Order: sequence, then C-alpha cells, then structure tokens
Amino acid sequence: MVHFVGAGSGAADLITVRGARLLGEADVIIYAGSLVNPDLLEYAKEGCEIHNSAHMTLEEVIDVMKAAEAAGKMVVRLHTGDPSLYGAHREQMDLLDEAHIAYDVVPGVSSFCGAAAALKAEYTLPNVSQSVIITRMEGRTPVPEGEKLRLMASHGCTMVLFLSTSLLDGAVEELLAGGYDADTPAAIVYKATWPDEQVWRCTVGTLAETARAAGVKNTALITIGGFLGDAYERSRLYDPTFTHMFREGSDA
Ligand code: SAH
Repeated sequence: MVHFVGAGSGAADLITVRGARLLGEADVIIYAGSLVNPDLLEYAKEGCEIHNSAHMTLEEVIDVMKAAEAAGKMVVRLHTGDPSLYGAHREQMDLLDEAHIAYDVVPGVSSFCGAAAALKAEYTLPNVSQSVIITRMEGRTPVPEGEKLRLMASHGCTMVLFLSTSLLDGAVEELLAGGYDADTPAAIVYKATWPDEQVWRCTVGTLAETARAAGVKNTALITIGGFLGDAYERSRLYDPTFTHMFREGSDA
C-alpha cells in the first residue's frame, strides 16, 4: 500500500495527525526533498528506508514503490503542502493503477493557507473578493491559453501565484495589463510556516523590485489583492441584525 501524504507548508508539526501516524508506521518514505522540511523525517521509525525524490525520475519513484509492494512494505510518498496543487501525484497514481498497487491520499496544509496565516489575512473579505485564483506565471511549464495571467488578472480578485517568484518582471506586466492597478496591495511570503519565514508587503507595481531587493527567488508565494488592504465590510454571519439558520437577529 502507498499513502500519498501532504506534509504541510513547512513547520514539522503542521502535518495532519493521520499523516504523522503513517510516517511513523512507514517502511519506506519517498519525500520531496526540494521543499519538504527534513525535520518531518524524525517521525520515521528506526530502520525506515528513505529516498529523496528531488534526485529521482517518475520511473525511479515508481520502481521504489513496486519493490516495496513486492516485499509487503508500506510506503509513504511525502509531498509538500497539499499534493493536489502542483504535486505531480496524478501521474504516480495512474502508474500505480496500471501496476495494481493500492494507494490513498492524505491531504495537507497547502502553502497558500500557510501564507494567509503568515500574513494574518483573510483571502475572502466581504465586499473585497469572494474568490481566490491560484495560478502561476507561464515559464518552462506552459499554461493553457484561457488561463494566461492577463486573463486571470481581469477578475481583480484575490490571487495567489505559485512557482512564479523568479518570473516577476513578466508577471507584473501581465497583472497590470489584465487590470490590477499598480497600487493594488501585494505581498511576498517566503517559506511560510518555516522557522525562517519572511514577509514583504508591497504593491503590484513594486513586486519585482521588492523580490530583487530581498533576493527571493524560490519557495515563495506572491499574493495580490484588496484583501491585503483595510477597506472591507464586516460579515453578515456575525451581524446582530442578521437572522440565519442558527441564530435569530434583530431583522427577524
Ligand atoms: N503542493 C504545494 C505546492 C508545490 S509547488 C502546496 O500545496 O503548497 C512548489 C511551490 O509552492 C513553490 O515554488 C512556492 O511557490 C510554493 N511553496 C511551497 N511551500 C511554500 C512555503 N512554505 N512558503 C511559500 N511558498 C511555498
């Protein structure tokens, strides 16, 4: 059996209780060493076989899984954040299906949630934005035509850019062309929830120079939108006048 486990965004105690239990029971761990906090390996039991997938191809990863399965061993495949975002676990699951190897998926705290925590921010403020676009700037990995950054930017909603910190000159051009004002608030969150987490608050117009001055290229998220500002309406949910399923308000 193979368990795909979301490691969480960084801090070793941000993995789920289920993920930590599976790590402790695993005979084999294959972890994404480029981003997973190595402190998580302290959950592993004595004698656990550990592989860093940063140095492996898809085929090599699957070969380790197949060998473990043949020996009746349990495998944890540890992905950073939540596996469903830029995790490349679908291609692994498809090959496991072909090999008739059973697997399941344990979700994790994605770095975009870790970034909101670092910023002490709410992405979905009433009257500011009720949607979050999670996307990336096109680089060596192509982005479908309908999802070009300029088009995504035309919504003006909260946006979180993964995998884009080294492509910020082009990204800012697209964000401005799409419709964000140059003074729309933005923030760069480096290593959210890690001990060396850092945050730089700036604007869309100053994103690229802020990243350059800070020397940040990797392991960072770019967040954009009015949610980083101060103008919002309070929620209906906790408004004394508002009646809903669980509470009678003064409008009843
Ligand atoms: N599955 C992961 C994302 C993997 S893609 C998740 O859910 O978070 C790798 C990209 O995620 C990095 O280039 C960076 O943009 C972002 N990232 C991952 N961990 C991060 C962290 N702790 N802080 C900021 N960005 C992070």
